[in-house]
Amino acid sequence: MGCNCNKNKDNQPAENKQQFRKQEIQEQSLIKKKMSMLQSFATAVASRGLQDNKVNIPLKQLRVVSCFGTEKYGGVLPPCEHLKESTTPGKHYCGGCGCGDKEGTWLMSEAEKYSKLDYPKLNCPLAMPGFSNYQHSKDDEGVEPVTRRWFIENKVSYNEIQQIPVTIHESKQTQPPK
Ligand code: SF4
Repeated sequence: MGCNCNKNKDNQPAENKQQFRKQEIQEQSLIKKKMSMLQSFATAVASRGLQDNKVNIPLKQLRVVSCFGTEKYGGVLPPCEHLKESTTPGKHYCGGCGCGDKEGTWLMSEAEKYSKLDYPKLNCPLAMPGFSNYQHSKDDEGVEPVTRRWFIENKVSYNEIQQIPVTIHESKQTQPPK
């Protein structure tokens, strides 16, 4: 009788692996979609202000989980299906909001630079946790296969989120006046 000790991990039955349902971006007319995208971006830019205001660390960590998932930090949550790799190695942008692949739209930049996830007010096309337009998951999102939003709300622990390495430099506004 053969043993299973060399059995490849990938041969494990699919039901052992957490499955996730795709979350569709709600369809709007093209003009409406363009207007709401511009409105969201204008609000995000305004929230930066003249002092380079930034989101706080726990909120940025939650946004990172929403966009990038937890797989590379030892968890099981895959990246968002709308996360796109930039043509610039190591950078990513959101393919769901239509902003494209530019330095200003990269979700995470170099530590010393302002990135999109740093905007205090920022909308996500899927209304995911950590974003200004976040909406709690609906009841049916917890039915297998679950949505990533439901999974973050119910299965990702606060400790796990706290382990996500993010950098935020102090905004000029929080420095003591000279
Ligand atoms: S902003 Fe929202 S839709 Fe875009 S990559 Fe992040 S979680 Fe996905």
